[in-house]
Amino acid sequence: NDYPFEQDADLPVPSELKSSYDVVIIGAGGHGVATAYYLAKYHGITNVAVLEKGYLGGGNTARNTAVIRSNYLTSEGVRFYSESVKLFKELSNEFDFNIMYTERGQLTLAHTDATVRAFRQRAEVNKHFGGRTELIGPQEIRELVPTLNMNPAHMPVLAGLWHMDGATARHDAVAWGYAKGATQRGVELHQLTEVTDIIVEKGRVTGVKTNRGTIQCGCAIQAVAGHSSLMAAKAGFRMPITTYPLQAMVTQPVKPFLDPLVSSSALHCYVQQTSRGEIVFGGGSDPYPLYNTRSTLELKESLLAHAIEMFPFMANLRLMRQWAGITDMTSDYSPIMGLSPVENYYLDAGWGTWGFKATPICGKTMAELVASGGKVPALIAPFAMDRFDVFRQVNEMGATAASH
Ligand code: FAD
Repeated sequence: NDYPFEQDADLPVPSELKSSYDVVIIGAGGHGVATAYYLAKYHGITNVAVLEKGYLGGGNTARNTAVIRSNYLTSEGVRFYSESVKLFKELSNEFDFNIMYTERGQLTLAHTDATVRAFRQRAEVNKHFGGRTELIGPQEIRELVPTLNMNPAHMPVLAGLWHMDGATARHDAVAWGYAKGATQRGVELHQLTEVTDIIVEKGRVTGVKTNRGTIQCGCAIQAVAGHSSLMAAKAGFRMPITTYPLQAMVTQPVKPFLDPLVSSSALHCYVQQTSRGEIVFGGGSDPYPLYNTRSTLELKESLLAHAIEMFPFMANLRLMRQWAGITDMTSDYSPIMGLSPVENYYLDAGWGTWGFKATPICGKTMAELVASGGKVPALIAPFAMDRFDVFRQVNEMGATAASH
């Protein structure tokens, strides 16, 4: 038997692939199973297969640093991510399963006048759409994070963007909660099932080829994070995506000292303490396009140098783990969601370094798109792939970068 997963009451795992499904979802990360969940629970569409080449939530869902926030720059971005934060807050109740959602606030540091100006704008846009974000000064920053060096790398902290809705959640639990909810309603989750080709006839997808055989489908959604352009190529079109590794690392656990998430784009670094006491560090993507999940010494040295500038006593901590994911970056640092050049083939892509926080709203809106037969929900219309043809980018570069 080459299919090692056993039946589990919480997560039914079918052994056989059927020859046909109404909906095929490629990729069982948080996004894929969230879409399946909303299709089943809110639209009654359950003849759905989620096909995963590895195991549930083993891609970027397992590798991210779990930052959830909505303090973006554009109105399109803030509106979209704010809805996701609202859904995250209710997710444990919705699942009856604890996703360990913890609201801790996120503090982004400004070291230049230009950043202070940009933060003022972000605070106002955020408040306009109901987010809780304020520009705060050095004194308030000292009170929030007494251990922070206010003059790191000779770049004094001038101000901060204090986003009270900033939070974290247990990433595996998010994937598991959605997968359980979907499979208990009849959705089939097939792990170790790799989609090797997309069958397109007369401009429509009619099926997918997998390492376990060919299946027909009414429509398909690709939700493969760092493999989006590879999958799109199988369907016969190109995506405006460049793929980079993104690394993160974590220390041994220490006593709680840091409640908010703290980030600095100028220092290419963000720092947070987990509920277990470990310190998680993340930063910008590797500076070269690559499909590889190796960790590098170079990144460790540069990232930790900045982290230690921010929190000098951390020089005494020991690193426990370092890892990487593969991230699909768009030039405007916003996702690509919605229709594709193939009629009934839908895109959930371009999630770069920021897509964990979007898991609930992306799943919900992608399910609406599929259930309506291709009517794009207003919330995701600005993120259509053709925005790159018509110069209608949603530029979030300043608000994404090292803050994730
Ligand atoms: P994944 O979880 O990657 O799921 C895609 C799945 O598709 C994978 O399981 C993969 O195996 C499967 N797949 C691929 N090809 C095939 C195929 N041919 N057939 C079948 N299955 C296939 N985001 C935030 O919001 N906050 C953060 O703090 C944050 N930090 C990050 C830190 C790091 C180090 C990394 C790498 C990413 C971070 N992100 C963050 C980004 C976030 O992790 C992703 O955007 C998000 O997880 C994407 O979710 P997904 O479900 O689309 O992808």
